[in-house]
Amino acid sequence: MIKSIAIVGLGNMGGGMALNLVRGGFRVHAFDLSREACAKAKENGCEVFATVAEAVRGVDAVVTMLPNGGIIDSVYSNEVIGKAPTSALLLDCSTIDVATARHVANAARAAGYEMVDAPVSGGIAAASQGTLTFMVGGTKHAFQRAEAVLNAMGKAVIHAGESGAGQAAKICNNMLLGIHMIGTCEAFAMAERLGLDLHAFYDIASKASGQCWSMTSYCPVPGVGPHSPADNDFQGGFASALMLKDLKLALEAAETAGTSVPMGTRAKEIYEAFTAAGNGGLDFSAIIRTL
Ligand code: NAD
Repeated sequence: MIKSIAIVGLGNMGGGMALNLVRGGFRVHAFDLSREACAKAKENGCEVFATVAEAVRGVDAVVTMLPNGGIIDSVYSNEVIGKAPTSALLLDCSTIDVATARHVANAARAAGYEMVDAPVSGGIAAASQGTLTFMVGGTKHAFQRAEAVLNAMGKAVIHAGESGAGQAAKICNNMLLGIHMIGTCEAFAMAERLGLDLHAFYDIASKASGQCWSMTSYCPVPGVGPHSPADNDFQGGFASALMLKDLKLALEAAETAGTSVPMGTRAKEIYEAFTAAGNGGLDFSAIIRTL
């Protein structure tokens, strides 16, 4: 049974996740390179350590929530594998490339650990409220062990398949999200030019075949549909820079898999230009400003 957990990476996402692990009754060891993030984790009931290796010593599970695959590879090879007990379950919740996820899981397995990739859907608010959705890659046994940990931080935990399958599901989903957000923005921009009342268009399209999540849960037009980042001048939400990161990962995976993704490629170009123009911090629905 998992009672103690080390969490590495206490940023926008990991900070809230650590708090929910504490609330879930786990003893939580924490580490981040940022002193500020560590101080906040301490206030939230975590025990803070000076290095990853010290934080993972003797724990039942390790959760990582870090920026990218290069950092994950280095943190696991240098500071987790061989430092945490082999009985500890390893869970990487970061969004990284499928190839690195598989490589790190293989290295962990070779050293005697069970590991899952468990990237999330849901942003900073879902991380702090404990309502993330986890897509999990790993063996059935590892998934079953992971459930208790992930349930403390999320509202849904889904087994996607073997190692890397969680990351594969995440980037396929987010590529689709980037594409249909741009499509939704195009449709609303054109509706406006054609003289349509945007509330009327929303009422029609949200009940017709153009309906999609970008429209009905996250409408990019201020004042239309449920409250969304568009109603807050595109602050908060899911940053365009993170959408670009996920689209790049999707294109890398498509290339490795030898599959053609023309719409994903175009979506990446559009978010690349938007981010290069200084808009990386704006919510990804702000792409409507370019149309
Ligand atoms: P963030 O930049 O806010 O946090 C990352 C944290 O990692 C920082 O506090 C940083 O100091 C720490 N860090 C970096 N290198 C480290 C190391 N070697 N050892 C210890 N700590 C280290 O990022 P975030 O928004 O929390 O995102 C984390 C992950 O979650 C990313 O992979 C991101 O793609 C994914 N994600 C983010 C969101 C979102 O809305 N922010 C949504 C879904 C998934």
